[in-house]
Amino acid sequence: MLTCKKEMVEEEVPESLTCDICKTSFSFEKDWEEIEECQHVHFEGGYGSVFGDGKRYKLDICQHCIKRLLGKFLIEDLDTYEEDDDDEDDEDRVSRDLE
Ligand SMILES: [Zn+2]
Repeated sequence: MLTCKKEMVEEEVPESLTCDICKTSFSFEKDWEEIEECQHVHFEGGYGSVFGDGKRYKLDICQHCIKRLLGKFLIEDLDTYEEDDDDEDDEDRVSRDLE
């Protein structure tokens, strides 16, 4: 028979996220909407990469910097909206399209 006891465990929890471009710091407690809109880039350069073969990079970027730096290049991905919807919405869309 296994018996258990209660123990207080100290753990690290995220406190803030800082945009690596504008250095704005967002609090996980107060700015959760901003944090949800931050994007996190991680990649490793492959053979022939201008960043170096096998070198790893990361970047946290806020929505405001994405819009300011890349906004004019972004293309709204209309194809992925259908993947996110459930079947009922698809049926509605088909019937609307046919009207
Ligand atoms: Zn930023």
